[in-house]
Amino acid sequence: MHRSWLEVSLGSIAGNFRAVRAVVGQEVAVMPVVKADAYRHGAVAVARSLERAGARWLAVSNVQEGAALRDAGIQTRILVMADFLPGSREAFFDYRLTPALHDLGEIGELERLATRRGQAVAFHLKIDSGMGRLGTRSEAAAVAEAVGGCQTAQFEGLMTHFASSSDYGSSQTDEQTRYFFDLLTATGLRPAYVHLSSTIPIAYGRREAWGNMVRPGHAIYGYISPAKGPAPDRELDVTPALTWKTCVLEVKDIPAGAAVGYGAIYRATKPIRIAVLAAGYADGYPHRLSNKGKVLVQGRVCPVIGAVSMDVTTIDVTGIAGLKPGDPVTLLGGEIDAQQIARTAGTISYAVLCGISSRVARMFVD
Ligand SMILES: *Cc1c(COP(=O)(O)O)cnc(C)c1O
Repeated sequence: MHRSWLEVSLGSIAGNFRAVRAVVGQEVAVMPVVKADAYRHGAVAVARSLERAGARWLAVSNVQEGAALRDAGIQTRILVMADFLPGSREAFFDYRLTPALHDLGEIGELERLATRRGQAVAFHLKIDSGMGRLGTRSEAAAVAEAVGGCQTAQFEGLMTHFASSSDYGSSQTDEQTRYFFDLLTATGLRPAYVHLSSTIPIAYGRREAWGNMVRPGHAIYGYISPAKGPAPDRELDVTPALTWKTCVLEVKDIPAGAAVGYGAIYRATKPIRIAVLAAGYADGYPHRLSNKGKVLVQGRVCPVIGAVSMDVTTIDVTGIAGLKPGDPVTLLGGEIDAQQIARTAGTISYAVLCGISSRVARMFVD
């Protein structure tokens, strides 16, 4: 029926959310991150199952993502983390979305808009504590003054984001944490939510950086990147929720010396049987897996041979009995997870997941 499809386990997503909640405890709110179509797992279905599992907040990257969730009936609070573009601002009111603001001037703009519309709106303020990306670098007194000038816009949260949380050989996370809490203390402000941590500081128990809210993305989908350096034991266990399959288009025997695919970068040294799969880099299967990747056929690991093409990929299926066109092959799943693929392709597991293209169908399972 499909050339290539994802099987997303909503049960695993809900289970991973519950596992995060169990680790952080009742005092800390969990705001799952469902940006980028829930790391390609399907934002609407994922958001629905998280809402059913008890999530009160979700985080997205931009206003379109938030509006799509509202249109689908999602009722949780929704934090929009990276979009306060002039053309987006009215939508925060129309769709009951909560902006993360990144500089003090934006606070005044939101306040003016809220006053003009006669509509209250809450906002979170992001501090650049050393990541050097989004967030204000203003000092405490200026932050307190800007927030104090609000009447219709309500300051609800203070947040920051870490640059090196996976590296326990670096002092940057401690420095960012100290900068953030020193600034918060110096402002004298008491926002309802204080949040700094994504998956890694949750999973490795960096409690001093939890505040009273955490923002897990990767962990919700079943991944925790390995920490570098002298990391403490991991406290969180999660299960990958996504399996990516494709089907066989053709099976054939080729003789010793025959070349396979673009550039003839693979040449058979003995007679082999190959299968041509119905997925390529246009589906998001990384071109860098050419001659390097591995897939699962009938539970057995088979190597990618030759260049990954736009629409097809060739594998060596010598010794696999009875394989025929239409049979399923697992590109990502089981022992071949996104981290394994990322290592082989020289990228990160986030990019492998987000790179799966919209051409790939998606099915939801328990
Ligand atoms: C994407 C993102 C997260 C989630 O990060 P993970 O490593 O996937 O848990 C949290 N906070 C911000 C600001 C983000 O952009």
